[in-house]
Amino acid sequence: MPAMRKCRTCLTYTFSESCPKCGNPTGTPHPARFSPHDPYGKYRRALLALDAPAPEKTPGPTSE
Ligand SMILES: [Zn+2]
Repeated sequence: MPAMRKCRTCLTYTFSESCPKCGNPTGTPHPARFSPHDPYGKYRRALLALDAPAPEKTPGPTSE
């Protein structure tokens, strides 16, 4: 299963590593792994919170 990626600029979902709309690099909307020792975890979660003004389409448990 290919990993769905998301443009952090225009919030477009894509499978490409670059956004088909704006050309900015994309990232994974959901980190594949969660590490309590991830030094960048809090920054990534903060970014995700900012990037997700609407509920995600995918059902499932969400981080607190
Ligand atoms: Zn984009």
